[in-house]
Amino acid sequence: MKTVLPHNALSLEKSRPGRRGVRFEPVQKHAPAYLPEAYLRKTAPKLPELSEFETVRHFTRLSELNYCLDGEFYPLGSCTMKYNPKAYDVLSALPGFSNVHPLAPESSVQGTLEMLYNFQELLKKVTGLAAFTLQPAAGAHGELTGILTARAYHDARKDFNRTEVIVPDTAHGTNPATAHMAGYTVVNIKSAPDGRVDKEALRQALSAKTAVVMLTVPNTVGLFETDIREIADMVHKAGALFYLDGANFNALAGLVKPADMGADLMHLNVHKSFAAPHGGGGPGAGPVGAAAHVAPFLPKPMVELKNGKYTLSGKMPKSLGKMKAFFGNAAVCLRGYCYLRQFDGSTFRQIAENAILNANYVRAALKGKFNAFFDCVCMHECVLSVNPAETNGVHTSDIAKRLLDYGFYAPTIYFPLIVPEAMMVEPTETESKQMMDAFVEAMEQIYAEIQTEPQTVKDAPHSQCVCRIDEVSAAREPNLRW
Ligand SMILES: *Cc1c(COP(=O)(O)O)cnc(C)c1O
Repeated sequence: MKTVLPHNALSLEKSRPGRRGVRFEPVQKHAPAYLPEAYLRKTAPKLPELSEFETVRHFTRLSELNYCLDGEFYPLGSCTMKYNPKAYDVLSALPGFSNVHPLAPESSVQGTLEMLYNFQELLKKVTGLAAFTLQPAAGAHGELTGILTARAYHDARKDFNRTEVIVPDTAHGTNPATAHMAGYTVVNIKSAPDGRVDKEALRQALSAKTAVVMLTVPNTVGLFETDIREIADMVHKAGALFYLDGANFNALAGLVKPADMGADLMHLNVHKSFAAPHGGGGPGAGPVGAAAHVAPFLPKPMVELKNGKYTLSGKMPKSLGKMKAFFGNAAVCLRGYCYLRQFDGSTFRQIAENAILNANYVRAALKGKFNAFFDCVCMHECVLSVNPAETNGVHTSDIAKRLLDYGFYAPTIYFPLIVPEAMMVEPTETESKQMMDAFVEAMEQIYAEIQTEPQTVKDAPHSQCVCRIDEVSAAREPNLRW
């Protein structure tokens, strides 16, 4: 073994026999008291033997390999990777919140219940909807909750023949997946050439079989439905419910209320729109709001205020039941609550305005090089694309990989599906002009490379610890062993 190891050596390579951190008494001495003899191992596992310092350095180095929002810009479209105030993390870690036991008597968790109640009220205020459930653990879980709520609504009216859910092709992928999981037939409708709902196609798809029409607002090409009231009226005339996917509500916050758009049901993503950290599969929250006629069917319990006490014991006889144990992800809701309290009033509107401004800044700055697929003002994200026939054979995936060399995480690519070679850039409301200028500059340099040295782009990345895999060999001669 070499004495000088590369800094990225594996912990097993760094291992030296007998090297230790703090020494505890051998476990074998105590284990037989707790474990049957048959389950005790005879030989020690092959673990690396490192000093405490080496161990700390090893894991610190690994943590630094992770590209994260606290380190860099993250233009991932449809995901809203934005600044999450660290102060909210501190508040949600206060022992009064973090030590609450889900089975504690209500009288001893009044503070948490009050916070959840106030959060419900704030969500009602910003959306104009009549009631909110905080149970769903994420956006997709919110959609399932919404669709099951819609079914409970139709069932209560003995309207059992509604078996279809209409989903435009500009919906988030979770929409058709949710409708399918809930047992509905998904009816897909194509968009009009302007990237918005084709009203004629919708008219033809609507029938007495339609249970729900699910619309992503703004849709996945970053556009707002200009005729949303008319669409809502068409849906309601057919006796169906109008579901809005509001995961990207940060583009609408303070500008328009979903209730005014005719929404019967809607979910919000606290972990996108209201500043709770996400990514890496961490906890989220996807509260679902409902208009008054659908509200009684939402999951129970809800936090209610009765005689000055907050309680979960309210009666909701028409409710579809529970969607999640206890309070939902209360610590995520707490961060959303802090956010709404902090940005209440006029600043709330600024969130949407900045999100829209930033996306349009990037779109306009790159115009003529990477054009927006729909050449119009967008909402919180812009969808750029390339035509490989005009870019020396360079594809979107090549550009995404080259961006890594410039120190940027790649935007969402090849989504939405209706845009060929899509690059979906969402700068979010919290990035500065300087950051967007840096991103635009990197994209411009890549554009120049596409003209002069396209192979550099096609072979990217050049600076990462993992380079591009040989996709042909990987498919033809897969080596599935380490
Ligand atoms: C992110 C997103 C979802 C899914 O939310 P999750 O919390 O990831 O389940 C649904 N719809 C839209 C429009 C989204 O952007």
